[in-house]
Amino acid sequence: MKNIPVVMVIFGGSGDLAHRKLYPALYNLYEQGLIHDNFAVIGTARRPWSHEYLRSQVSDAIHETHDKVDENEVKNFTSHFYYQSHDVTNVEHYETLKKLAQDLDEHYNAQGNRLFYMAMAPRFFGTIATHINDQHLTGNGFNRIVVEKPFGRDLASAEELNKQITASFKEDDIFRIDHYLGKEMIQNIIPLRFSNWIFKNSWNKENIKNIQVTLAERLGVEARGGYYETSGALRDMVQNHIFQVITLLAMPEPESLKDNDIHKAKQELLDSLIIPNEEEIKKHFVRGQYAGSDTTFAYKKEPNVDENSTTETFAAGLVKFKKGPVADVPIYFRTGKEFKEKKNRIDIVFKNCHSLYGQVKHDVLTIEFDPTSSITLTINGKKITGEGLRQENLTYAFSKEEMAQVPDGYERLLHDVFVNDSTNFTHWGELKRYWQFIDAIEDAWQKENEKGQANIAQYPPYRMGPKEANNIFESPTEHWIYE
Ligand code: NAD
Repeated sequence: MKNIPVVMVIFGGSGDLAHRKLYPALYNLYEQGLIHDNFAVIGTARRPWSHEYLRSQVSDAIHETHDKVDENEVKNFTSHFYYQSHDVTNVEHYETLKKLAQDLDEHYNAQGNRLFYMAMAPRFFGTIATHINDQHLTGNGFNRIVVEKPFGRDLASAEELNKQITASFKEDDIFRIDHYLGKEMIQNIIPLRFSNWIFKNSWNKENIKNIQVTLAERLGVEARGGYYETSGALRDMVQNHIFQVITLLAMPEPESLKDNDIHKAKQELLDSLIIPNEEEIKKHFVRGQYAGSDTTFAYKKEPNVDENSTTETFAAGLVKFKKGPVADVPIYFRTGKEFKEKKNRIDIVFKNCHSLYGQVKHDVLTIEFDPTSSITLTINGKKITGEGLRQENLTYAFSKEEMAQVPDGYERLLHDVFVNDSTNFTHWGELKRYWQFIDAIEDAWQKENEKGQANIAQYPPYRMGPKEANNIFESPTEHWIYE
Protein backbone atom coordinates (compact mmCIF):
# COMPACT_ATOMS: atom_id res chain seq x y z
CA MET A 1 0.00 0.00 0.00
CA LYS A 2 1.11 3.57 -0.67
CA ASN A 3 2.81 5.62 2.01
CA ILE A 4 0.80 8.83 1.80
CA PRO A 5 2.61 11.96 2.94
CA VAL A 6 0.34 14.24 4.98
CA VAL A 7 -0.01 16.49 8.02
CA MET A 8 -3.39 15.78 9.58
CA VAL A 9 -5.01 18.23 11.98
CA ILE A 10 -7.74 16.85 14.24
CA PHE A 11 -9.95 19.54 15.78
CA GLY A 12 -11.28 17.87 18.91
CA GLY A 13 -8.21 15.73 19.59
CA SER A 14 -9.17 15.14 23.23
CA GLY A 15 -12.73 14.08 22.39
CA ASP A 16 -14.60 10.79 22.46
CA LEU A 17 -14.67 10.26 18.69
CA ALA A 18 -10.93 10.83 18.34
CA HIS A 19 -10.15 8.46 21.20
CA ARG A 20 -12.55 5.62 20.42
CA LYS A 21 -12.52 5.70 16.64
CA LEU A 22 -9.95 7.90 14.92
CA TYR A 23 -6.77 6.94 16.78
CA PRO A 24 -7.36 3.17 16.54
CA ALA A 25 -8.30 3.54 12.86
CA LEU A 26 -5.17 5.58 12.10
CA TYR A 27 -3.06 2.97 13.85
CA ASN A 28 -4.51 0.21 11.67
CA LEU A 29 -3.83 2.24 8.54
CA TYR A 30 -0.27 2.82 9.77
CA GLU A 31 0.12 -0.92 10.28
CA GLN A 32 -1.01 -1.44 6.69
CA GLY A 33 1.57 1.10 5.50
CA LEU A 34 -0.97 3.59 4.10
CA ILE A 35 0.53 6.28 6.30
CA HIS A 36 3.98 5.51 7.59
CA ASP A 37 7.11 7.60 7.54
CA ASN A 38 5.86 10.85 6.09
CA PHE A 39 2.93 11.76 8.28
CA ALA A 40 2.23 13.75 11.40
CA VAL A 41 -1.00 14.22 13.33
CA ILE A 42 -1.72 17.38 15.29
CA GLY A 43 -4.39 16.91 17.93
CA THR A 44 -5.97 20.16 19.02
CA ALA A 45 -8.37 20.96 21.86
CA ARG A 46 -8.65 23.52 24.61
CA ARG A 47 -6.99 21.47 27.36
CA PRO A 48 -3.34 22.24 28.12
CA TRP A 49 -1.96 18.80 27.17
CA SER A 50 1.65 18.13 26.17
CA HIS A 51 2.76 16.14 23.10
CA GLU A 52 3.72 13.36 25.51
CA TYR A 53 0.32 13.32 27.13
CA LEU A 54 -1.47 13.12 23.76
CA ARG A 55 0.86 10.26 22.77
CA SER A 56 -0.03 8.39 25.95
CA GLN A 57 -3.75 8.93 25.19
CA VAL A 58 -3.32 7.63 21.65
CA SER A 59 -1.42 4.63 23.02
CA ASP A 60 -4.25 3.96 25.50
CA ALA A 61 -6.80 4.17 22.69
CA ILE A 62 -4.87 1.54 20.70
CA HIS A 63 -4.52 -0.80 23.68
CA GLU A 64 -8.23 -0.47 24.48
CA THR A 65 -9.22 -1.60 20.97
CA HIS A 66 -6.57 -4.22 20.14
CA ASP A 67 -5.95 -7.54 21.87
CA LYS A 68 -2.30 -7.73 20.94
CA VAL A 69 0.05 -4.98 19.82
CA ASP A 70 3.73 -4.65 19.12
CA GLU A 71 4.81 -2.04 21.68
CA ASN A 72 7.62 -0.77 19.45
CA GLU A 73 5.16 -0.19 16.61
CA VAL A 74 2.84 1.70 18.96
CA LYS A 75 5.73 3.85 20.13
CA ASN A 76 6.86 4.61 16.59
CA PHE A 77 3.30 5.42 15.60
CA THR A 78 2.55 7.73 18.54
CA SER A 79 5.85 9.57 17.99
CA HIS A 80 4.12 11.13 14.94
CA PHE A 81 1.53 12.82 17.20
CA TYR A 82 1.73 16.45 18.37
CA TYR A 83 -0.59 18.40 20.58
CA GLN A 84 -1.59 22.00 20.13
CA SER A 85 -3.70 23.69 22.80
CA HIS A 86 -6.15 25.61 20.72
CA ASP A 87 -9.41 27.46 21.23
CA VAL A 88 -11.11 27.32 17.87
CA THR A 89 -12.64 30.73 18.42
CA ASN A 90 -9.26 32.40 19.01
CA VAL A 91 -7.78 33.61 15.71
CA GLU A 92 -4.21 33.84 17.05
CA HIS A 93 -4.17 30.14 17.82
CA TYR A 94 -4.47 29.39 14.10
CA GLU A 95 -1.17 31.21 13.53
CA THR A 96 0.58 28.84 15.96
CA LEU A 97 -1.18 25.88 14.41
CA LYS A 98 -0.12 26.92 10.93
CA LYS A 99 3.50 27.25 12.02
CA LEU A 100 3.47 23.83 13.70
CA ALA A 101 1.94 22.24 10.59
CA GLN A 102 4.62 23.84 8.40
CA ASP A 103 7.45 22.67 10.70
CA LEU A 104 6.07 19.13 10.78
CA ASP A 105 5.61 19.16 7.03
CA GLU A 106 9.29 19.93 6.64
CA HIS A 107 10.36 17.44 9.30
CA TYR A 108 8.35 14.55 7.83
CA ASN A 109 8.54 15.63 4.20
CA ALA A 110 4.73 15.70 3.95
CA GLN A 111 4.87 17.52 0.59
CA GLY A 112 2.47 20.29 1.56
CA ASN A 113 -0.46 17.87 1.96
CA ARG A 114 -3.03 18.73 4.63
CA LEU A 115 -5.99 16.82 6.01
CA PHE A 116 -8.30 18.61 8.46
CA TYR A 117 -10.75 16.60 10.55
CA MET A 118 -13.61 18.35 12.34
CA ALA A 119 -14.22 16.05 15.32
CA MET A 120 -15.98 18.64 17.45
CA ALA A 121 -19.44 19.89 18.30
CA PRO A 122 -21.01 20.96 14.99
CA ARG A 123 -21.57 24.52 16.20
CA PHE A 124 -17.81 25.09 15.71
CA PHE A 125 -17.55 23.76 12.14
CA GLY A 126 -18.27 27.13 10.52
CA THR A 127 -15.77 28.99 12.74
CA ILE A 128 -13.02 26.46 12.03
CA ALA A 129 -13.66 26.56 8.27
CA THR A 130 -13.63 30.37 8.28
CA HIS A 131 -10.30 30.53 10.12
CA ILE A 132 -8.67 27.81 8.02
CA ASN A 133 -9.45 30.17 5.17
CA ASP A 134 -8.61 33.59 6.61
CA GLN A 135 -5.46 32.35 8.38
CA HIS A 136 -4.34 30.40 5.27
CA LEU A 137 -3.86 27.03 6.94
CA THR A 138 -3.96 25.06 3.73
CA GLY A 139 -0.72 23.65 2.32
CA ASN A 140 0.61 23.66 -1.23
CA GLY A 141 -0.11 19.94 -1.84
CA PHE A 142 -3.55 18.38 -1.52
CA ASN A 143 -5.98 19.90 0.98
CA ARG A 144 -8.87 17.80 2.21
CA ILE A 145 -11.38 18.26 4.99
CA VAL A 146 -13.53 15.71 6.79
CA VAL A 147 -16.72 17.09 8.30
CA GLU A 148 -18.60 15.12 10.94
CA LYS A 149 -22.35 15.02 11.17
CA PRO A 150 -24.62 16.87 11.48
CA PHE A 151 -23.90 19.11 8.51
CA GLY A 152 -26.25 21.97 9.44
CA ARG A 153 -29.61 21.74 11.20
CA ASP A 154 -31.69 22.73 8.18
CA LEU A 155 -31.04 23.69 4.56
CA ALA A 156 -30.27 27.34 5.36
CA SER A 157 -27.62 26.56 7.99
CA ALA A 158 -26.16 23.76 5.85
CA GLU A 159 -25.85 26.22 2.96
CA GLU A 160 -24.10 28.72 5.21
CA LEU A 161 -21.67 26.06 6.47
CA ASN A 162 -21.04 24.88 2.94
CA LYS A 163 -20.19 28.42 1.90
CA GLN A 164 -17.69 28.70 4.74
CA ILE A 165 -16.04 25.41 3.82
CA THR A 166 -15.96 25.96 0.06
CA ALA A 167 -14.06 29.21 0.65
CA SER A 168 -10.98 27.00 1.19
CA PHE A 169 -11.89 23.59 -0.24
CA LYS A 170 -13.19 22.36 -3.56
CA GLU A 171 -16.27 20.11 -3.47
CA ASP A 172 -14.13 17.08 -4.38
CA ASP A 173 -11.92 17.75 -1.34
CA ILE A 174 -14.80 17.91 1.15
CA PHE A 175 -15.55 14.55 2.79
CA ARG A 176 -18.88 14.76 4.62
CA ILE A 177 -18.65 11.65 6.69
CA ASP A 178 -21.50 9.33 7.66
CA HIS A 179 -20.13 6.24 9.36
CA TYR A 180 -23.17 4.19 8.26
CA LEU A 181 -21.63 4.19 4.79
CA GLY A 182 -18.60 2.40 6.25
CA LYS A 183 -20.67 -0.55 7.51
CA GLU A 184 -20.09 -3.92 5.89
CA MET A 185 -23.67 -4.63 4.84
CA ILE A 186 -24.31 -1.10 3.64
CA GLN A 187 -21.27 -1.45 1.39
CA ASN A 188 -22.78 -4.74 0.24
CA ILE A 189 -25.93 -3.12 -1.19
CA ILE A 190 -24.35 -2.17 -4.53
CA PRO A 191 -22.81 -5.63 -5.19
CA LEU A 192 -26.01 -7.32 -4.07
CA ARG A 193 -28.18 -5.22 -6.39
CA PHE A 194 -25.96 -5.14 -9.43
CA SER A 195 -24.06 -8.43 -9.50
CA ASN A 196 -27.00 -10.83 -9.11
CA TRP A 197 -29.26 -11.45 -12.09
CA ILE A 198 -32.16 -12.28 -9.81
CA PHE A 199 -32.04 -8.98 -7.94
CA LYS A 200 -30.82 -6.77 -10.76
CA ASN A 201 -33.84 -7.76 -12.81
CA SER A 202 -36.45 -7.77 -10.10
CA TRP A 203 -35.43 -4.49 -8.44
CA ASN A 204 -38.24 -2.43 -9.93
CA LYS A 205 -41.82 -1.33 -9.42
CA GLU A 206 -43.17 -4.32 -11.32
CA ASN A 207 -41.81 -6.65 -8.65
CA ILE A 208 -41.32 -4.71 -5.43
CA LYS A 209 -44.33 -3.86 -3.30
CA ASN A 210 -42.50 -1.67 -0.81
CA ILE A 211 -39.18 -1.13 0.93
CA GLN A 212 -38.81 -0.69 4.69
CA VAL A 213 -35.85 0.71 6.59
CA THR A 214 -35.76 0.40 10.38
CA LEU A 215 -33.06 1.90 12.59
CA ALA A 216 -34.14 0.91 16.09
CA GLU A 217 -32.14 1.84 19.16
CA ARG A 218 -32.47 0.19 22.52
CA LEU A 219 -31.09 3.14 24.49
CA GLY A 220 -32.85 6.36 25.43
CA VAL A 221 -31.11 9.75 25.26
CA GLU A 222 -29.16 9.05 28.48
CA ALA A 223 -27.00 12.07 29.39
CA ARG A 224 -27.40 13.67 25.93
CA GLY A 225 -30.84 15.21 26.56
CA GLY A 226 -29.51 18.75 26.10
CA TYR A 227 -28.03 17.98 22.68
CA TYR A 228 -31.01 15.86 21.64
CA GLU A 229 -33.43 18.74 22.33
CA THR A 230 -31.73 20.67 19.51
CA SER A 231 -32.04 17.74 17.12
CA GLY A 232 -34.67 14.97 17.36
CA ALA A 233 -34.94 11.69 15.48
CA LEU A 234 -35.61 13.27 12.09
CA ARG A 235 -32.46 15.40 12.07
CA ASP A 236 -30.33 12.93 14.04
CA MET A 237 -31.08 9.75 12.07
CA VAL A 238 -33.28 10.35 9.01
CA GLN A 239 -31.55 13.33 7.37
CA ASN A 240 -28.29 11.39 7.16
CA HIS A 241 -28.24 7.63 7.85
CA ILE A 242 -31.73 6.69 6.66
CA PHE A 243 -31.50 8.80 3.53
CA GLN A 244 -28.07 7.40 2.71
CA VAL A 245 -29.43 3.88 2.94
CA ILE A 246 -32.56 4.71 0.93
CA THR A 247 -30.44 6.35 -1.78
CA LEU A 248 -28.35 3.19 -2.18
CA LEU A 249 -31.52 1.10 -2.37
CA ALA A 250 -33.26 3.27 -4.95
CA MET A 251 -30.54 4.70 -7.20
CA PRO A 252 -30.19 3.53 -10.80
CA GLU A 253 -27.22 1.40 -11.77
CA PRO A 254 -24.16 3.66 -12.07
CA GLU A 255 -22.13 3.64 -15.29
CA SER A 256 -19.13 2.31 -13.37
CA LEU A 257 -18.00 1.80 -9.79
CA LYS A 258 -15.97 5.03 -9.86
CA ASP A 259 -16.96 7.55 -7.20
CA ASN A 260 -18.07 10.17 -9.71
CA ASP A 261 -20.38 7.74 -11.49
CA ILE A 262 -21.90 6.61 -8.20
CA HIS A 263 -22.57 10.21 -7.20
CA LYS A 264 -24.04 10.90 -10.63
CA ALA A 265 -26.49 8.01 -10.19
CA LYS A 266 -27.40 9.17 -6.69
CA GLN A 267 -27.97 12.73 -7.83
CA GLU A 268 -30.14 11.60 -10.73
CA LEU A 269 -32.32 9.76 -8.24
CA LEU A 270 -32.42 12.55 -5.67
CA ASP A 271 -33.40 15.15 -8.25
CA SER A 272 -36.63 13.16 -8.52
CA LEU A 273 -37.25 12.93 -4.76
CA ILE A 274 -40.85 13.86 -4.03
CA ILE A 275 -41.12 16.47 -1.28
CA PRO A 276 -44.39 15.71 0.54
CA ASN A 277 -47.03 18.37 1.16
CA GLU A 278 -48.73 19.01 4.51
CA GLU A 279 -51.62 16.69 3.83
CA GLU A 280 -49.30 13.83 2.89
CA ILE A 281 -47.20 14.50 5.95
CA LYS A 282 -50.27 14.22 8.17
CA LYS A 283 -51.16 10.91 6.56
CA HIS A 284 -47.81 9.20 6.17
CA PHE A 285 -45.58 10.55 8.95
CA VAL A 286 -45.61 9.90 12.68
CA ARG A 287 -43.57 11.41 15.47
CA GLY A 288 -43.39 10.07 18.99
CA GLN A 289 -41.69 10.26 22.38
CA TYR A 290 -40.96 7.41 24.77
CA ALA A 291 -43.37 7.62 27.64
CA GLY A 292 -41.51 6.06 30.56
CA SER A 293 -42.65 3.32 32.90
CA ASP A 294 -42.52 2.47 36.60
CA THR A 295 -38.78 2.02 36.32
CA THR A 296 -37.74 4.33 33.45
CA PHE A 297 -38.00 8.06 32.72
CA ALA A 298 -40.28 9.44 30.05
CA TYR A 299 -38.33 11.51 27.51
CA LYS A 300 -39.87 14.69 28.92
CA LYS A 301 -38.51 13.82 32.36
CA GLU A 302 -34.95 13.18 31.22
CA PRO A 303 -32.25 15.57 32.48
CA ASN A 304 -31.94 18.78 30.43
CA VAL A 305 -35.17 18.06 28.54
CA ASP A 306 -38.03 20.59 28.56
CA GLU A 307 -41.09 19.07 30.25
CA ASN A 308 -43.20 20.40 27.36
CA SER A 309 -40.72 19.29 24.75
CA THR A 310 -41.98 18.60 21.24
CA THR A 311 -38.70 16.95 20.20
CA GLU A 312 -39.38 13.52 18.72
CA THR A 313 -37.50 10.41 19.86
CA PHE A 314 -39.29 8.42 17.16
CA ALA A 315 -40.05 9.22 13.54
CA ALA A 316 -41.63 7.17 10.77
CA GLY A 317 -42.54 8.20 7.25
CA LEU A 318 -42.77 7.60 3.54
CA VAL A 319 -40.25 8.44 0.81
CA LYS A 320 -40.93 8.26 -2.93
CA PHE A 321 -39.06 9.03 -6.10
CA LYS A 322 -40.36 9.94 -9.54
CA LYS A 323 -37.44 8.27 -11.31
CA GLY A 324 -35.14 5.32 -10.92
CA PRO A 325 -35.80 1.58 -10.83
CA VAL A 326 -38.19 1.86 -7.88
CA ALA A 327 -39.99 5.03 -8.99
CA ASP A 328 -43.40 5.22 -7.25
CA VAL A 329 -42.59 2.32 -4.91
CA PRO A 330 -43.30 3.36 -1.32
CA ILE A 331 -40.20 3.37 0.85
CA TYR A 332 -41.11 3.45 4.53
CA PHE A 333 -38.70 4.28 7.30
CA ARG A 334 -38.83 4.37 11.07
CA THR A 335 -36.29 5.12 13.72
CA GLY A 336 -36.55 5.60 17.42
CA LYS A 337 -35.09 5.28 20.85
CA GLU A 338 -36.14 2.72 23.46
CA PHE A 339 -37.16 0.00 21.04
CA LYS A 340 -37.25 -3.59 22.29
CA GLU A 341 -33.75 -4.13 20.84
CA LYS A 342 -31.07 -2.47 18.78
CA LYS A 343 -31.80 -3.49 15.22
CA ASN A 344 -30.84 -1.90 11.92
CA ARG A 345 -32.46 -3.61 8.98
CA ILE A 346 -33.87 -3.23 5.52
CA ASP A 347 -36.81 -5.26 4.21
CA ILE A 348 -37.46 -5.42 0.49
CA VAL A 349 -41.01 -6.72 0.19
CA PHE A 350 -41.79 -8.35 -3.14
CA LYS A 351 -45.29 -8.36 -4.59
CA ASN A 352 -47.81 -11.05 -3.82
CA CYS A 353 -47.76 -13.88 -6.25
CA HIS A 354 -51.11 -15.10 -7.54
CA SER A 355 -50.19 -18.74 -7.77
CA LEU A 356 -51.86 -22.10 -8.12
CA TYR A 357 -51.88 -22.05 -4.34
CA GLY A 358 -54.01 -18.93 -4.24
CA GLN A 359 -52.70 -15.97 -2.27
CA VAL A 360 -49.25 -16.78 -0.88
CA LYS A 361 -46.88 -14.93 1.42
CA HIS A 362 -44.58 -12.22 0.06
CA ASP A 363 -40.96 -13.05 -0.59
CA VAL A 364 -38.93 -10.68 1.55
CA LEU A 365 -35.26 -9.86 1.18
CA THR A 366 -33.94 -8.69 4.55
CA ILE A 367 -30.56 -7.03 5.04
CA GLU A 368 -29.52 -6.73 8.67
CA PHE A 369 -26.58 -4.40 9.21
CA ASP A 370 -26.35 -3.77 12.94
CA PRO A 371 -25.66 -5.30 15.43
CA THR A 372 -25.56 -8.42 13.22
CA SER A 373 -24.80 -8.63 9.50
CA SER A 374 -26.77 -10.92 7.20
CA ILE A 375 -28.94 -11.12 4.11
CA THR A 376 -32.00 -13.35 4.20
CA LEU A 377 -34.48 -14.22 1.47
CA THR A 378 -37.73 -15.78 2.60
CA ILE A 379 -39.18 -18.20 0.09
CA ASN A 380 -42.22 -20.44 -0.11
CA GLY A 381 -41.99 -24.23 -0.39
CA LYS A 382 -44.21 -27.21 0.25
CA LYS A 383 -45.02 -28.44 3.70
CA ILE A 384 -43.43 -31.81 4.43
CA THR A 385 -46.68 -33.29 5.60
CA GLY A 386 -50.15 -32.03 4.93
CA GLU A 387 -51.24 -29.51 2.34
CA GLY A 388 -50.09 -26.02 1.57
CA LEU A 389 -46.92 -24.02 1.79
CA ARG A 390 -44.41 -23.03 4.40
CA GLN A 391 -41.89 -20.17 4.38
CA GLU A 392 -38.18 -20.80 4.86
CA ASN A 393 -35.09 -18.62 4.77
CA LEU A 394 -32.07 -18.59 2.51
CA THR A 395 -29.37 -16.83 4.46
CA TYR A 396 -26.08 -15.20 3.55
CA ALA A 397 -24.10 -14.83 6.74
CA PHE A 398 -20.56 -14.44 7.99
CA SER A 399 -18.55 -16.76 10.17
CA LYS A 400 -17.13 -15.42 13.42
CA GLU A 401 -13.67 -15.40 11.84
CA GLU A 402 -14.92 -13.39 8.88
CA MET A 403 -16.69 -10.91 11.17
CA ALA A 404 -13.44 -10.45 13.07
CA GLN A 405 -11.79 -9.32 9.81
CA VAL A 406 -14.39 -6.64 9.10
CA PRO A 407 -12.69 -3.26 9.58
CA ASP A 408 -14.40 -0.59 11.63
CA GLY A 409 -16.37 1.91 9.53
CA TYR A 410 -14.04 4.75 10.49
CA GLU A 411 -10.99 2.80 9.36
CA ARG A 412 -12.57 2.21 5.97
CA LEU A 413 -13.68 5.77 5.56
CA LEU A 414 -10.39 7.32 6.69
CA HIS A 415 -8.63 5.02 4.24
CA ASP A 416 -10.88 6.38 1.50
CA VAL A 417 -10.05 9.97 2.45
CA PHE A 418 -6.32 9.25 2.23
CA VAL A 419 -6.67 7.63 -1.19
CA ASN A 420 -9.12 10.32 -2.34
CA ASP A 421 -12.10 8.04 -2.97
CA SER A 422 -15.35 9.89 -2.24
CA THR A 423 -17.72 6.98 -3.01
CA ASN A 424 -18.91 6.67 0.57
CA PHE A 425 -19.22 10.36 1.40
CA THR A 426 -22.06 12.76 0.81
CA HIS A 427 -21.86 15.29 -1.99
CA TRP A 428 -23.39 18.69 -1.47
CA GLY A 429 -26.11 18.19 -4.10
CA GLU A 430 -27.27 15.03 -2.29
CA LEU A 431 -27.22 16.63 1.13
CA LYS A 432 -29.22 19.56 -0.16
CA ARG A 433 -32.04 17.28 -1.27
CA TYR A 434 -32.04 15.47 2.09
CA TRP A 435 -32.43 18.79 3.88
CA GLN A 436 -35.21 19.96 1.55
CA PHE A 437 -37.17 16.87 2.47
CA ILE A 438 -36.47 17.15 6.21
CA ASP A 439 -37.27 20.88 6.24
CA ALA A 440 -40.70 20.15 4.74
CA ILE A 441 -41.51 17.74 7.58
CA GLU A 442 -40.03 19.97 10.27
CA ASP A 443 -41.99 22.99 8.96
CA ALA A 444 -45.26 21.05 8.94
CA TRP A 445 -44.66 19.77 12.47
CA GLN A 446 -43.64 23.23 13.64
CA LYS A 447 -46.90 24.65 12.26
CA GLU A 448 -48.84 22.03 14.21
CA ASN A 449 -46.90 22.92 17.37
CA GLU A 450 -47.69 26.61 16.94
CA LYS A 451 -51.41 25.89 16.52
CA GLY A 452 -51.29 23.77 19.69
CA GLN A 453 -52.06 20.72 17.54
CA ALA A 454 -48.82 18.82 18.00
CA ASN A 455 -49.64 15.17 17.56
CA ILE A 456 -46.78 13.42 19.32
CA ALA A 457 -47.53 9.77 20.06
CA GLN A 458 -46.38 8.71 23.53
CA TYR A 459 -45.07 5.15 23.26
CA PRO A 460 -44.25 2.52 25.85
CA PRO A 461 -40.51 1.89 26.29
CA TYR A 462 -38.69 -1.17 24.98
CA ARG A 463 -41.32 -2.28 22.48
CA MET A 464 -41.81 -1.32 18.85
CA GLY A 465 -42.45 2.43 19.08
CA PRO A 466 -45.92 4.00 18.76
CA LYS A 467 -48.77 1.94 17.31
CA GLU A 468 -49.67 5.00 15.20
CA ALA A 469 -46.72 4.05 12.98
CA ASN A 470 -48.78 1.08 11.78
CA ASN A 471 -51.08 3.52 9.97
CA ILE A 472 -48.64 5.27 7.67
CA PHE A 473 -48.99 2.75 4.84
CA GLU A 474 -50.53 3.64 1.51
CA SER A 475 -52.57 0.47 1.33
CA PRO A 476 -54.24 -1.75 3.95
CA THR A 477 -52.36 -4.75 2.57
CA GLU A 478 -49.05 -3.30 3.77
CA HIS A 479 -47.55 -3.69 7.24
CA TRP A 480 -44.17 -3.64 8.97
CA ILE A 481 -42.26 -6.83 8.30
CA TYR A 482 -40.07 -6.46 11.38
CA GLU A 483 -42.43 -6.61 14.36
P1 NAD B 1 -16.65 15.38 22.47
O1 NAD B 1 -17.49 16.37 23.22
O2 NAD B 1 -16.22 14.15 23.15
O3 NAD B 1 -15.33 16.12 21.97
C1 NAD B 1 -15.31 17.46 21.56
C2 NAD B 1 -13.89 17.97 21.43
O4 NAD B 1 -13.92 19.37 21.15
C3 NAD B 1 -13.03 17.83 22.69
O5 NAD B 1 -11.71 17.51 22.29
C4 NAD B 1 -13.06 19.25 23.28
O6 NAD B 1 -11.96 19.55 24.10
C5 NAD B 1 -13.04 20.07 22.03
N1 NAD B 1 -13.53 21.45 22.21
C6 NAD B 1 -14.72 21.89 22.71
N2 NAD B 1 -14.78 23.24 22.66
C7 NAD B 1 -13.63 23.67 22.10
C8 NAD B 1 -13.10 24.94 21.74
N3 NAD B 1 -13.77 26.09 21.95
N4 NAD B 1 -11.87 25.00 21.17
C9 NAD B 1 -11.16 23.87 20.94
N5 NAD B 1 -11.61 22.64 21.23
C10 NAD B 1 -12.82 22.54 21.82
O7 NAD B 1 -17.45 15.09 21.12
P2 NAD B 1 -17.37 13.75 20.22
O8 NAD B 1 -18.31 12.73 20.76
O9 NAD B 1 -15.97 13.38 20.02
O10 NAD B 1 -18.04 14.24 18.85
C11 NAD B 1 -17.34 15.05 17.91
C12 NAD B 1 -18.08 15.06 16.59
O11 NAD B 1 -18.13 13.75 16.07
C13 NAD B 1 -19.53 15.54 16.66
O12 NAD B 1 -19.83 16.23 15.48
C14 NAD B 1 -20.35 14.24 16.68
O13 NAD B 1 -21.63 14.42 16.14
C15 NAD B 1 -19.49 13.37 15.79
N6 NAD B 1 -19.65 11.93 16.03
C16 NAD B 1 -19.25 11.38 17.20
C17 NAD B 1 -19.37 10.00 17.40
C18 NAD B 1 -18.88 9.34 18.68
O14 NAD B 1 -18.95 8.10 18.72
N7 NAD B 1 -18.43 10.06 19.67
C19 NAD B 1 -19.95 9.19 16.40
C20 NAD B 1 -20.36 9.79 15.21
C21 NAD B 1 -20.21 11.15 15.03
